[in-house]
Amino acid sequence: MQDIDSLPLSDTVIGETPDVVIVGGGIIALASAQKLLAAGRRVTIIERKGIAQGASYGNAAAFAFSDILPLAASGKIRHLPKWLMDPLGPLSIPPPYALKIAPWLLRFWRASWPDRIQNSIAAQGALMRVAEQEMASLVAEAGLGAMVRRDGSLELYESEAEFAAALPGWQARAAQGIDFEHVRGGRLAELQPGLWPGFVAGTFVPGWQTVSNPYDFALALARAVQARGAQLLRGEVTSVAPSADGVAIRFADGRSLTGAAAVIAAGAWSRRLTDPLGERIPLETERGYNTTLPLGAFEVRRQLIFGGHGFVITPLINGLRVGGAVELGGLDLPPNFNRSEAMLAKARRFLPGLKPEGGEQWMGFRPSLPDSLPVIGLSRASPRIVYAFGNGHLGLTQSAGTGRLVRDLVCRETPPIDVTPFSAARFRYGSYLGARPPPQPRAHSNTP
Ligand SMILES: Cc1cc2nc3c(=O)[nH]c(=O)nc-3n(C[C@H](O)[C@H](O)[C@H](O)COP(=O)(O)OP(=O)(O)OC[C@H]3O[C@@H](n4cnc5c(N)ncnc54)[C@H](O)[C@@H]3O)c2cc1C
Repeated sequence: MQDIDSLPLSDTVIGETPDVVIVGGGIIALASAQKLLAAGRRVTIIERKGIAQGASYGNAAAFAFSDILPLAASGKIRHLPKWLMDPLGPLSIPPPYALKIAPWLLRFWRASWPDRIQNSIAAQGALMRVAEQEMASLVAEAGLGAMVRRDGSLELYESEAEFAAALPGWQARAAQGIDFEHVRGGRLAELQPGLWPGFVAGTFVPGWQTVSNPYDFALALARAVQARGAQLLRGEVTSVAPSADGVAIRFADGRSLTGAAAVIAAGAWSRRLTDPLGERIPLETERGYNTTLPLGAFEVRRQLIFGGHGFVITPLINGLRVGGAVELGGLDLPPNFNRSEAMLAKARRFLPGLKPEGGEQWMGFRPSLPDSLPVIGLSRASPRIVYAFGNGHLGLTQSAGTGRLVRDLVCRETPPIDVTPFSAARFRYGSYLGARPPPQPRAHSNTP
């Protein structure tokens, strides 16, 4: 792991009361800060550990703008029985957590019904279009262009049956305007030489991008927002609550701070702050694992996706990252790095020349809702409190789009898309059984 103090956090706020206090120092918080600063707001970020030390540290580095199918979609859910039988498979539930995750799984199952899938794809597709545009402007404004690779992705299929089962998902993406190319034979080998010969076909997505390293990207963004005046404060926030003059933020060490508005962007830990506000948001974590091999492990030309096995291989500036998997194991169980090893063993099979030595293992907590959509919206406790978490597998991809919507909600501007599907209200009593969530409340007139 790189030095967590490579971007020091301060212990005190300097100067005036901030317009917006953002809780969390991950990629969602940083992108939200960037968009708010561009709108002229004074921003303070509060992070308890270090910038991008959560899920944003070691993810698979993709801007996966075409990834609009929810996890509960049939193309993915059909793998579940097989996956669950394998304790080191792509999706697992550690026995001590099985009972706790049951209500989330019930909602996940409800999210797999055709009506919900259609709504989810439409909402995710709309968010991805905003995400792509806003990421382009974020990258340009923060000077991060050199960190973005634009060489697409290649999804691989081991059998005709697997390829055929993926086709409806590609049709759904085509309907959302996503460009792709199904490839075989020489074209497949050209896109990635050295593949295991058992792959019968692939799908090349030219618009898919990756960053050179997600931690470097987040740190560079943090430096950019700091240079624009954002304050980066160290502290563990224990509560966020409306107060007479704005929003009161309390810290575990007794300090407190008031902002005119607050954004809760604390990743998989956000629920600890939203439950006391009267919300019951079913935020869970899908724990993910990987191994980062040193440079020279294999020449991978673009991100490779092994959908049937739930993992990807990403070329990074500092090596090759092999990882993925979903472990529904909560925030407290110890990591099981046998999962990293199981994916590495498969990677050796699929890239026969891969050198598997010298890797660094990592586990991260994806913040996940059962319908695979994030929570982006106003708190029921106060329109001065905005939620921005739960981006699951797609937080890096959606960071700038989420930040744009956060900016609009804080600044009382009309967002470019309907934000109702992302409201926390979709989980209130009855709504997950079929009722539509109520419209978002209007922002408070004094909100900056
Ligand atoms: C294996 C894996 C691969 C992935 N691959 C991709 C990918 O290729 N593309 C993609 O788009 N996404 C990917 N993701 C998902 C992505 O990493 C996450 O969605 C994203 O990082 C979430 O960002 P965040 O800012 O919400 O949360 P985090 O990065 O977890 O940040 C939350 C921060 O809040 C802080 N915090 C929490 N509570 C408090 C508190 N009370 N007070 C102060 N600070 C607090 C934490 O310390 C943490 O730093 C992947 C995830 C994993 C695990």
